[in-house]
Formats: sequence, structure tokens, C-alpha cells
Amino acid sequence: MSGYSSEEDEDLQTIPKKSEVYLGYVDVAFNKTEDEPTVEDTFVGGQPIWLHHGSPPSADLISCKSCTNPMSLIVQAFSPLEDSLYDRIIYVFGCKNDQCNRKKGSVRAIRAVCKDPKKMEEAQNEQDEEIKAQLQDKLKLDNARNFLFDGNKQDSNPFGASTDSSNPFGGSSANPFGVPAAASNPFASSAPAPTKTEEPAKPSFASIAKQSAPAPKPKTKSTITKKLPEYPGYFLYVDQEKFNKKPAQKQPNLKIDDSALDLEDESNSASGSGSGSAGLSAESQAVSASLQDSTFQHFSEVISYNPHQVLRYEINGKPLLATSSDEIAKVVSERLIPRPGFNPSSERRFELQVMPKLIMDFEDEVNVQGGIEWVTIIVYTDKEDFTPELDDNHVGYVEEWCGVQWEEPITTKTRR
Ligand SMILES: [Zn+2]
Repeated sequence: MSGYSSEEDEDLQTIPKKSEVYLGYVDVAFNKTEDEPTVEDTFVGGQPIWLHHGSPPSADLISCKSCTNPMSLIVQAFSPLEDSLYDRIIYVFGCKNDQCNRKKGSVRAIRAVCKDPKKMEEAQNEQDEEIKAQLQDKLKLDNARNFLFDGNKQDSNPFGASTDSSNPFGGSSANPFGVPAAASNPFASSAPAPTKTEEPAKPSFASIAKQSAPAPKPKTKSTITKKLPEYPGYFLYVDQEKFNKKPAQKQPNLKIDDSALDLEDESNSASGSGSGSAGLSAESQAVSASLQDSTFQHFSEVISYNPHQVLRYEINGKPLLATSSDEIAKVVSERLIPRPGFNPSSERRFELQVMPKLIMDFEDEVNVQGGIEWVTIIVYTDKEDFTPELDDNHVGYVEEWCGVQWEEPITTKTRR
């Protein structure tokens, strides 16, 4: 419990030069394109797509625990694990009922897997083929390079995987997932486990598994459950987080008083409540919840580099807390995330986080009475990715841990 050291504190409070986080950005709206989302897409809003059209989750899994009504899909993230051959999706659902804001169980995270042995075998074969093809391509290119440039043109890296966007290995920064064959759907390559782009010879298993699993035809979209109430749907595109460019203008999405950032100084961030809220008096907690909350400042600062992010994905990574003064901050900071009940010997790890810009995208399209009041939704999933039960279609669902940081009064005031 006290293992949350100041070292990590620092880690949370500084802007790293490099990030392993993948960010999701809103792209084309469902109603502005002929394309329908498939299981291999990552998207927000709309109706969920199940891994098998005949295998929706049980109704109670996607019902609000507060009002028991069916919830709405917030995010569906196609996120097969690296080194695995099966399909995997994280769903985040939320209740649209105003009265359920801040209620326990009004936002829930569901993990689905599909371990179809046939598909997995196909994935294995395609993976082997892919590796073979990549090796061959690499050899060819090496030879060509050696021949044309006498080996000294680019750099000493034999794979030449520098920043050359024409690199056939897909190892360029333009395509962090190495899924060049994503065909006409640019969003198919969404939110998998990050791959080491500098190692083109060792492609991400996650990306290969993804390529090999054919998406069900849109027509077979699940009609098993009744249509859920929905938010407007948008495809997401995913890119690695970068901190190099910072827009000069005030961020349109996070309506934070600029003076909040000006208040920050060294002593403030050092004494900030990144971890210590548990030991603080009620009074100092109240202070930390104010604009001087260095956690909130850090949250805003990180977002300001990529202000349109609606999703952060970093398996085994760290969530970005919006405040240090609530229960979720305590649970996350002190690593009190509950073990999965369906796999009690395991633990949970951070996987993804929904960011507040999404609320704007949802609210742009519909008049959300009363409004959405979460700031961020943090999802932790079972480290072992265990799924106790698979149905006849090899699909299984479990509920994962989901921590919601709600708007504090101060943010409510500045947001509206
Ligand atoms: Zn509800």
C-alpha cells in the first residue's frame, strides 16, 4: 500500500519524451459513410459488434446496475493481445440515464474473447506466412540497398527501418501497428498492443492475428439483443502519442481556465497530491481538488499535446488520473485494483482509458439532457486474460474493472 513511491510520483507528473501510449481520435461518423463497423474496428458510440453474431453477452452484463436499463456503448476497442491468436474486444458501456451519473455500476467494462480453434489455426498459418514474407522482403530490400547504395546511404541499420515511409515492412512511424494490408478500411488497425516499430523482422502477433481473422460481414451484425440506446457512432483512428507539437492556442476541448496552468510551480507539483490523498486531511484534500491539483494539471498538460484524443491505450501502462482526490485515484495510486473474481489468483493491469473529449463528440450530435458527467473512464483487465466460459461459438465475456472519475464541481463550472 505504501509502495507508491515518490519516484513513481515523479513519473506520473512529468511529460515523457517518448510514449508507448496509443491514442484514439474520432474520425468519420457512422452516418457519413457507407462503411459499417466490424469486429476489427475500434469505434465509439453506435451499437456494439459482438465477436460472433450469435453470441451476444447476457443482458445483465450490459445493463446499468443502478437503474437496470440497458446501457449504451461508449467505446468498442478491438485489442487482441500480442503473442495471442484469438480475437479480443474491450467494450465500455455507460447508462444514459441522468440519474445514474456517479452511481456505481452505471459505467461498465466488458472483455470479450473468441477462441475459435479454426480461426486460431488460420491465424497461426497466416502469421507464419507473414513472417516468411517479411523476411523475404527484408532480404530483397537489403540486397537492393546494398546494390544501389553500396550500403552507406541510409544508416547502419540493416533493416533500414528509419523514417522512410515507403518502407515495405510497415515499420515506419506512420503505421505503428504494421498493418499495411488493412485495405480500404483505415480504421481496422485499431488499438492493439504496441509493437516495437524498430524491429520490423519481428512483427506484432497482435497485428497478424488481427489481419487473419476475417470480420463477419456487416449484414450479419447482431440482432440478437434489442437495439441499445446509443450515442452517435464514429470510427477511431489510432496513432502513437507524441509530445513534440503543442498547439499554441487554448485547447477547445478541455475548457480549463488557463490560469490553472500558470499556477503550477515546482513546489506545487512536488507537494501535489499525486499519491498522498489518503493521508491528507479533509481540508487539504479539498484544496487538492481545486485548480491547484497537480494531478489535474498534469492531466490537462498531457492532453494539451494531443487535444483530440478520446482514447488512450497502453496495456500494462499507467492511467492518467484526472484528479487525485477521489476514490478511484486512491485505488489506482495504491494499487488496490480488485483481482478478477473469475480468476482470483491473477491480478489486473491497466489497459485503456476513455478521455473527456469524447463527451463533446457525443454531445455535438445529440442533445444529451443533463449531460455526461464523467471525466475519464479507466479500465483494468485480467493479466492472464482468463475467460472461464466459452459458448458454442467459442465466445466468452467477463466484466473487468472500470474506474470512473466524475466531474468535480469546479470542472462542471468551467465546462459549461
Ligand atoms: Zn442507469
